[in-house]
Amino acid sequence: MQFDEAPLSIYLHIPFCHVRCGYCAFNTYTDLDDLIPAYVNALRHELEIIAANNPHQETHTLYFGGGTPSLLTAHQFERLLLTISREFKLSDDMEISLEANPDDLSFEYLRDLRALGCNRLSIGMQSANADILHLYDRRHDLQKVSDAVAAARKAQFENLNLDVIFGAPGEALADWRPTVDALMAFAPDHVSMYGLELKGGTDLRQRVDRGELPRPDDDVFADMYEYAAEVFERHGYVQYEISNWRRDAKQCRHNLQYWRNLPYIGLGAGAHGFAGGLRYSTITAPQRYIAALADSAAGALEFPLTPAVAKHRVVSRADDLYETIMMGLRLTREGINRSRFSARFGQDFVAMFPEAVERLGALGLIHVGEDRVRLGSAGRLLSNGIIREFVDGIMA
Ligand code: SF4
Repeated sequence: MQFDEAPLSIYLHIPFCHVRCGYCAFNTYTDLDDLIPAYVNALRHELEIIAANNPHQETHTLYFGGGTPSLLTAHQFERLLLTISREFKLSDDMEISLEANPDDLSFEYLRDLRALGCNRLSIGMQSANADILHLYDRRHDLQKVSDAVAAARKAQFENLNLDVIFGAPGEALADWRPTVDALMAFAPDHVSMYGLELKGGTDLRQRVDRGELPRPDDDVFADMYEYAAEVFERHGYVQYEISNWRRDAKQCRHNLQYWRNLPYIGLGAGAHGFAGGLRYSTITAPQRYIAALADSAAGALEFPLTPAVAKHRVVSRADDLYETIMMGLRLTREGINRSRFSARFGQDFVAMFPEAVERLGALGLIHVGEDRVRLGSAGRLLSNGIIREFVDGIMA
Protein backbone atom coordinates (compact mmCIF):
# COMPACT_ATOMS: atom_id res chain seq x y z
CA MET A 1 0.00 0.00 0.00
CA GLN A 2 1.26 3.46 -0.84
CA PHE A 3 1.72 5.55 2.25
CA ASP A 4 -1.01 8.09 1.47
CA GLU A 5 -3.44 5.28 0.65
CA ALA A 6 -3.47 4.17 4.29
CA PRO A 7 -6.48 5.44 6.26
CA LEU A 8 -5.60 8.57 8.20
CA SER A 9 -5.83 9.26 11.95
CA ILE A 10 -6.49 12.69 13.45
CA TYR A 11 -5.25 13.90 16.85
CA LEU A 12 -6.61 17.14 18.36
CA HIS A 13 -4.74 18.61 21.31
CA ILE A 14 -6.71 20.46 24.01
CA PRO A 15 -4.02 22.24 26.08
CA PHE A 16 -6.04 23.39 29.07
CA CYS A 17 -6.15 22.04 32.62
CA HIS A 18 -7.49 23.39 35.89
CA VAL A 19 -4.43 22.27 37.85
CA ARG A 20 -1.00 21.08 36.69
CA CYS A 21 -0.32 17.60 38.07
CA GLY A 22 2.99 17.12 39.84
CA TYR A 23 4.35 14.67 37.23
CA CYS A 24 3.01 16.41 34.12
CA ALA A 25 5.33 17.48 31.32
CA PHE A 26 2.62 17.78 28.64
CA ASN A 27 1.96 20.97 26.73
CA THR A 28 -0.88 22.25 28.88
CA TYR A 29 -1.79 25.51 30.63
CA THR A 30 -3.82 26.45 33.69
CA ASP A 31 -5.87 29.67 33.95
CA LEU A 32 -6.37 29.97 30.17
CA ASP A 33 -9.94 28.59 30.03
CA ASP A 34 -11.15 31.94 28.67
CA LEU A 35 -9.32 31.11 25.45
CA ILE A 36 -11.28 27.91 24.81
CA PRO A 37 -13.97 29.40 22.48
CA ALA A 38 -11.33 31.09 20.27
CA TYR A 39 -9.20 27.95 20.42
CA VAL A 40 -12.08 25.79 19.15
CA ASN A 41 -12.55 28.22 16.23
CA ALA A 42 -8.83 28.06 15.46
CA LEU A 43 -8.93 24.26 15.50
CA ARG A 44 -11.84 24.28 13.06
CA HIS A 45 -9.91 26.60 10.76
CA GLU A 46 -6.81 24.43 10.97
CA LEU A 47 -8.94 21.38 10.10
CA GLU A 48 -10.25 23.18 6.99
CA ILE A 49 -6.75 24.15 5.88
CA ILE A 50 -5.28 20.70 6.33
CA ALA A 51 -8.27 19.02 4.66
CA ALA A 52 -7.94 21.16 1.52
CA ASN A 53 -4.97 19.13 0.21
CA ASN A 54 -5.45 15.88 2.09
CA PRO A 55 -4.58 12.95 -0.22
CA HIS A 56 -5.94 10.27 2.12
CA GLN A 57 -9.19 8.70 0.99
CA GLU A 58 -10.45 7.92 4.43
CA THR A 59 -10.05 8.81 8.11
CA HIS A 60 -10.65 6.02 10.60
CA THR A 61 -9.69 7.32 14.05
CA LEU A 62 -10.04 10.61 15.87
CA TYR A 63 -8.50 11.31 19.27
CA PHE A 64 -9.06 14.29 21.57
CA GLY A 65 -6.06 14.38 23.92
CA GLY A 66 -4.61 16.88 26.31
CA GLY A 67 -4.49 18.63 28.52
CA THR A 68 -8.06 18.03 29.53
CA PRO A 69 -10.46 17.59 26.59
CA SER A 70 -13.34 17.19 29.07
CA LEU A 71 -13.07 20.95 29.75
CA LEU A 72 -14.79 21.48 26.38
CA THR A 73 -18.58 21.67 26.39
CA ALA A 74 -20.63 19.18 24.39
CA HIS A 75 -21.52 22.06 22.07
CA GLN A 76 -17.84 22.77 21.40
CA PHE A 77 -17.29 19.09 20.59
CA GLU A 78 -20.29 19.22 18.29
CA ARG A 79 -18.84 22.14 16.32
CA LEU A 80 -15.50 20.35 15.94
CA LEU A 81 -17.12 17.08 14.92
CA LEU A 82 -19.32 18.85 12.35
CA THR A 83 -16.23 20.42 10.78
CA ILE A 84 -14.41 17.10 10.74
CA SER A 85 -17.32 15.22 9.17
CA ARG A 86 -17.72 17.95 6.54
CA GLU A 87 -14.01 18.14 5.65
CA PHE A 88 -12.90 14.48 5.88
CA LYS A 89 -14.35 11.24 4.60
CA LEU A 90 -14.92 9.24 7.75
CA SER A 91 -15.00 5.44 7.83
CA ASP A 92 -18.23 3.76 8.92
CA ASP A 93 -16.61 2.22 11.98
CA MET A 94 -14.81 5.41 13.05
CA GLU A 95 -13.18 5.31 16.50
CA ILE A 96 -13.66 8.64 18.32
CA SER A 97 -11.73 8.78 21.61
CA LEU A 98 -11.69 11.38 24.28
CA GLU A 99 -9.42 11.74 27.33
CA ALA A 100 -11.24 12.89 30.44
CA ASN A 101 -10.75 13.73 34.09
CA PRO A 102 -13.16 11.82 36.34
CA ASP A 103 -14.52 14.93 38.03
CA ASP A 104 -15.74 16.46 34.76
CA LEU A 105 -18.01 13.56 33.85
CA SER A 106 -21.72 13.88 34.61
CA PHE A 107 -24.16 11.44 33.02
CA GLU A 108 -25.78 14.26 31.00
CA TYR A 109 -22.43 15.40 29.58
CA LEU A 110 -21.44 11.85 28.63
CA ARG A 111 -24.86 11.13 27.13
CA ASP A 112 -24.45 14.20 24.89
CA LEU A 113 -20.94 13.18 23.84
CA ARG A 114 -22.11 9.66 23.06
CA ALA A 115 -24.99 11.07 20.97
CA LEU A 116 -22.41 13.08 18.99
CA GLY A 117 -20.58 9.87 18.08
CA CYS A 118 -17.81 9.72 20.70
CA ASN A 119 -17.44 6.00 21.30
CA ARG A 120 -14.27 5.56 23.34
CA LEU A 121 -13.64 7.21 26.68
CA SER A 122 -10.28 7.25 28.46
CA ILE A 123 -10.52 8.25 32.12
CA GLY A 124 -7.43 9.26 34.13
CA MET A 125 -7.85 7.17 37.30
CA GLN A 126 -4.09 7.09 38.10
CA SER A 127 -4.37 5.57 41.60
CA ALA A 128 -6.88 4.39 44.19
CA ASN A 129 -4.68 5.68 47.00
CA ALA A 130 -5.79 9.08 48.36
CA ASP A 131 -2.27 10.02 49.52
CA ILE A 132 -0.78 9.23 46.10
CA LEU A 133 -3.52 11.15 44.28
CA HIS A 134 -2.72 14.07 46.57
CA LEU A 135 1.00 13.69 45.83
CA TYR A 136 0.18 13.78 42.10
CA ASP A 137 -1.97 16.94 42.63
CA ARG A 138 -4.97 15.21 41.08
CA ARG A 139 -8.38 16.80 41.63
CA HIS A 140 -10.36 13.57 42.08
CA ASP A 141 -10.70 10.71 44.55
CA LEU A 142 -11.64 7.05 44.05
CA GLN A 143 -15.35 7.77 44.50
CA LYS A 144 -15.20 10.22 41.59
CA VAL A 145 -13.71 7.50 39.39
CA SER A 146 -16.47 5.10 40.45
CA ASP A 147 -19.15 7.71 39.68
CA ALA A 148 -17.57 8.50 36.30
CA VAL A 149 -17.41 4.82 35.31
CA ALA A 150 -21.06 4.32 36.31
CA ALA A 151 -22.10 7.44 34.35
CA ALA A 152 -20.13 6.31 31.29
CA ARG A 153 -21.75 2.87 31.31
CA LYS A 154 -25.20 4.41 31.75
CA ALA A 155 -24.45 6.70 28.79
CA GLN A 156 -23.70 3.57 26.70
CA PHE A 157 -19.91 3.90 26.43
CA GLU A 158 -18.91 0.34 25.60
CA ASN A 159 -15.25 1.09 25.08
CA LEU A 160 -13.88 2.47 28.31
CA ASN A 161 -10.20 2.84 29.19
CA LEU A 162 -8.77 3.57 32.61
CA ASP A 163 -5.24 5.00 32.96
CA VAL A 164 -3.18 4.13 36.03
CA ILE A 165 0.34 5.06 37.13
CA PHE A 166 2.62 2.95 39.31
CA GLY A 167 5.86 3.83 41.09
CA ALA A 168 5.04 7.03 42.97
CA PRO A 169 7.85 8.12 45.32
CA GLY A 170 7.50 5.95 48.42
CA GLU A 171 4.85 3.68 46.87
CA ALA A 172 5.42 0.04 47.86
CA LEU A 173 3.96 -3.07 46.24
CA ALA A 174 1.49 -3.30 49.15
CA ASP A 175 0.28 0.24 48.35
CA TRP A 176 -0.12 -0.58 44.67
CA ARG A 177 -2.21 -3.76 45.09
CA PRO A 178 -5.43 -1.93 46.12
CA THR A 179 -5.16 0.24 42.99
CA VAL A 180 -4.98 -2.89 40.84
CA ASP A 181 -7.94 -4.40 42.75
CA ALA A 182 -10.04 -1.24 42.38
CA LEU A 183 -9.17 -1.04 38.70
CA MET A 184 -10.33 -4.61 38.11
CA ALA A 185 -13.53 -3.97 40.09
CA PHE A 186 -14.40 -1.20 37.60
CA ALA A 187 -14.14 -3.79 34.76
CA PRO A 188 -12.92 -1.38 32.06
CA ASP A 189 -12.62 -2.61 28.48
CA HIS A 190 -9.04 -1.38 28.26
CA VAL A 191 -6.25 -0.56 30.69
CA SER A 192 -3.23 1.70 30.16
CA MET A 193 -0.62 1.30 32.90
CA TYR A 194 2.48 3.51 32.99
CA GLY A 195 5.45 3.66 35.32
CA LEU A 196 5.87 7.15 36.76
CA GLU A 197 8.47 9.11 34.82
CA LEU A 198 10.14 11.93 36.72
CA LYS A 199 10.54 14.28 33.79
CA GLY A 200 12.73 17.36 34.02
CA GLY A 201 10.94 20.53 35.14
CA THR A 202 8.09 18.72 36.88
CA ASP A 203 7.26 19.43 40.49
CA LEU A 204 7.74 15.81 41.55
CA ARG A 205 11.14 15.59 39.88
CA GLN A 206 12.30 18.71 41.70
CA ARG A 207 11.06 17.38 45.03
CA VAL A 208 12.87 14.08 44.47
CA ASP A 209 16.06 15.88 43.36
CA ARG A 210 15.94 18.04 46.49
CA GLY A 211 15.66 14.88 48.62
CA GLU A 212 12.17 15.72 49.92
CA LEU A 213 10.74 12.53 48.41
CA PRO A 214 12.41 9.13 47.94
CA ARG A 215 13.65 8.22 44.46
CA PRO A 216 11.52 5.38 43.01
CA ASP A 217 13.28 2.01 43.00
CA ASP A 218 13.67 0.02 39.73
CA ASP A 219 13.18 -3.36 41.42
CA VAL A 220 9.92 -2.21 43.03
CA PHE A 221 8.86 -0.87 39.62
CA ALA A 222 9.43 -4.28 38.05
CA ASP A 223 7.51 -6.05 40.85
CA MET A 224 4.54 -3.68 40.44
CA TYR A 225 4.45 -4.14 36.68
CA GLU A 226 4.63 -7.94 36.91
CA TYR A 227 2.07 -8.09 39.70
CA ALA A 228 -0.45 -6.00 37.76
CA ALA A 229 0.20 -7.83 34.47
CA GLU A 230 -0.57 -11.17 36.18
CA VAL A 231 -3.77 -9.83 37.74
CA PHE A 232 -4.92 -8.35 34.43
CA GLU A 233 -4.32 -11.67 32.68
CA ARG A 234 -6.26 -13.55 35.38
CA HIS A 235 -9.18 -11.20 34.74
CA GLY A 236 -9.18 -11.96 31.02
CA TYR A 237 -7.24 -8.94 29.75
CA VAL A 238 -4.87 -9.49 26.85
CA GLN A 239 -1.68 -7.48 26.69
CA TYR A 240 -1.04 -6.10 23.21
CA GLU A 241 1.44 -3.31 23.93
CA ILE A 242 4.05 -2.84 26.66
CA SER A 243 1.71 -0.55 28.64
CA ASN A 244 -1.71 -1.57 27.30
CA TRP A 245 -4.22 -4.37 27.84
CA ARG A 246 -7.58 -4.97 26.21
CA ARG A 247 -10.63 -7.14 26.61
CA ASP A 248 -12.49 -8.49 23.57
CA ALA A 249 -11.36 -6.52 20.53
CA LYS A 250 -11.18 -3.19 22.34
CA GLN A 251 -7.59 -2.25 21.48
CA CYS A 252 -7.06 1.47 20.89
CA ARG A 253 -7.06 1.73 17.11
CA HIS A 254 -5.79 5.30 17.22
CA ASN A 255 -2.70 4.37 19.20
CA LEU A 256 -2.16 1.32 16.94
CA GLN A 257 -1.74 3.83 14.12
CA TYR A 258 1.28 5.31 15.97
CA TRP A 259 2.73 1.94 16.89
CA ARG A 260 2.42 0.73 13.30
CA ASN A 261 4.11 3.95 12.16
CA LEU A 262 1.19 4.92 9.93
CA PRO A 263 0.14 8.50 9.07
CA TYR A 264 -1.66 10.82 11.44
CA ILE A 265 -2.21 14.54 11.53
CA GLY A 266 -1.91 16.45 14.79
CA LEU A 267 -3.81 19.70 15.26
CA GLY A 268 -3.89 22.22 18.07
CA ALA A 269 -1.17 23.89 20.12
CA GLY A 270 1.85 21.66 20.69
CA ALA A 271 0.56 18.76 18.58
CA HIS A 272 2.78 16.41 16.56
CA GLY A 273 2.01 14.82 13.22
CA PHE A 274 3.45 12.38 10.70
CA ALA A 275 1.98 12.56 7.21
CA GLY A 276 2.94 13.36 3.63
CA GLY A 277 6.49 12.14 4.34
CA LEU A 278 6.98 14.83 7.04
CA ARG A 279 7.15 14.87 10.82
CA TYR A 280 6.06 18.15 12.28
CA SER A 281 5.04 19.94 15.45
CA THR A 282 2.87 22.98 15.98
CA ILE A 283 3.24 26.21 17.95
CA THR A 284 2.99 25.38 21.66
CA ALA A 285 1.43 28.53 23.20
CA PRO A 286 -2.38 28.62 22.72
CA GLN A 287 -2.44 32.42 22.22
CA ARG A 288 0.19 32.24 19.46
CA TYR A 289 -1.53 29.21 17.92
CA ILE A 290 -4.83 31.13 17.72
CA ALA A 291 -3.09 34.20 16.27
CA ALA A 292 -1.29 32.13 13.61
CA LEU A 293 -4.58 30.79 12.32
CA ALA A 294 -6.44 34.09 12.31
CA ASP A 295 -7.13 35.32 8.78
CA SER A 296 -5.00 32.68 7.06
CA ALA A 297 -6.43 31.36 3.80
CA ALA A 298 -7.19 27.66 3.36
CA GLY A 299 -5.23 25.68 0.82
CA ALA A 300 -2.14 27.93 0.72
CA LEU A 301 0.24 25.30 2.06
CA GLU A 302 1.09 21.74 1.09
CA PHE A 303 -0.40 18.91 3.11
CA PRO A 304 0.05 18.49 6.09
CA LEU A 305 1.46 21.99 6.75
CA THR A 306 -0.64 24.82 8.18
CA PRO A 307 0.27 28.29 9.51
CA ALA A 308 0.34 26.70 12.98
CA VAL A 309 3.25 24.35 12.15
CA ALA A 310 6.39 25.53 13.98
CA LYS A 311 8.85 22.84 12.86
CA HIS A 312 8.89 20.13 10.23
CA ARG A 313 11.41 17.80 8.67
CA VAL A 314 11.40 15.30 5.84
CA VAL A 315 11.39 11.74 7.18
CA SER A 316 14.58 10.03 5.98
CA ARG A 317 14.80 6.27 5.46
CA ALA A 318 16.86 6.03 8.68
CA ASP A 319 14.18 7.97 10.62
CA ASP A 320 11.49 5.78 9.20
CA LEU A 321 13.36 2.58 10.11
CA TYR A 322 14.01 3.90 13.61
CA GLU A 323 10.35 4.72 14.23
CA THR A 324 9.06 1.49 12.69
CA ILE A 325 11.32 -0.65 14.90
CA MET A 326 10.98 1.40 18.08
CA MET A 327 7.19 1.52 17.88
CA GLY A 328 6.68 -1.97 16.39
CA LEU A 329 8.57 -3.77 19.14
CA ARG A 330 6.25 -2.17 21.70
CA LEU A 331 3.44 -4.29 20.22
CA THR A 332 3.86 -7.37 22.37
CA ARG A 333 1.67 -9.69 20.25
CA GLU A 334 1.82 -8.17 16.79
CA GLY A 335 5.45 -7.02 16.87
CA ILE A 336 7.08 -5.96 13.62
CA ASN A 337 5.21 -7.45 10.68
CA ARG A 338 7.94 -8.89 8.44
CA SER A 339 6.04 -8.68 5.16
CA ARG A 340 4.95 -5.06 5.78
CA PHE A 341 8.52 -4.26 6.85
CA SER A 342 9.94 -5.79 3.63
CA ALA A 343 7.42 -3.89 1.50
CA ARG A 344 8.34 -0.62 3.22
CA PHE A 345 12.14 -0.99 3.35
CA GLY A 346 12.94 -3.46 0.54
CA GLN A 347 14.60 -5.94 2.90
CA ASP A 348 13.48 -8.50 5.45
CA PHE A 349 13.94 -7.44 9.09
CA VAL A 350 15.88 -10.61 9.99
CA ALA A 351 18.21 -10.18 7.00
CA MET A 352 18.81 -6.55 8.00
CA PHE A 353 19.81 -7.36 11.61
CA PRO A 354 21.10 -10.97 11.52
CA GLU A 355 23.46 -10.76 14.53
CA ALA A 356 21.12 -8.94 16.92
CA VAL A 357 18.23 -11.22 15.94
CA GLU A 358 20.30 -14.34 16.63
CA ARG A 359 21.75 -13.09 19.92
CA LEU A 360 18.51 -11.72 21.38
CA GLY A 361 16.55 -14.71 20.07
CA ALA A 362 18.95 -17.15 21.79
CA LEU A 363 18.39 -15.30 25.08
CA GLY A 364 14.58 -15.50 24.67
CA LEU A 365 14.35 -11.71 24.61
CA ILE A 366 12.77 -11.63 21.16
CA HIS A 367 10.68 -14.15 19.32
CA VAL A 368 11.15 -14.56 15.58
CA GLY A 369 8.16 -15.99 13.76
CA GLU A 370 7.54 -16.53 10.08
CA ASP A 371 5.69 -13.23 9.68
CA ARG A 372 6.62 -11.22 12.77
CA VAL A 373 9.39 -10.35 15.20
CA ARG A 374 8.22 -9.49 18.68
CA LEU A 375 9.52 -9.26 22.22
CA GLY A 376 9.73 -12.55 24.12
CA SER A 377 8.00 -12.54 27.52
CA ALA A 378 11.43 -12.22 29.17
CA GLY A 379 12.02 -9.11 27.11
CA ARG A 380 9.08 -6.97 28.21
CA LEU A 381 10.80 -5.41 31.20
CA LEU A 382 13.96 -4.90 29.15
CA SER A 383 12.23 -3.46 26.11
CA ASN A 384 14.13 -0.15 26.04
CA GLY A 385 17.51 -1.90 25.95
CA ILE A 386 16.36 -4.40 23.32
CA ILE A 387 14.94 -1.67 21.09
CA ARG A 388 18.27 0.17 21.42
CA GLU A 389 20.13 -2.92 20.14
CA PHE A 390 18.39 -2.40 16.81
CA VAL A 391 17.96 1.32 16.53
CA ASP A 392 21.36 2.56 17.81
CA GLY A 393 23.07 1.21 14.68
CA ILE A 394 20.57 2.95 12.40
CA MET A 395 21.10 6.41 13.85
CA ALA A 396 24.91 6.05 14.32
S1 SF4 B 1 -4.69 16.43 33.78
FE1 SF4 B 1 -3.20 15.46 32.39
S2 SF4 B 1 -2.48 17.09 31.05
FE2 SF4 B 1 -3.51 18.09 32.78
S3 SF4 B 1 -1.87 18.53 34.21
FE3 SF4 B 1 -2.70 16.54 34.80
S4 SF4 B 1 -1.42 15.02 33.69
FE4 SF4 B 1 -1.06 17.04 32.75
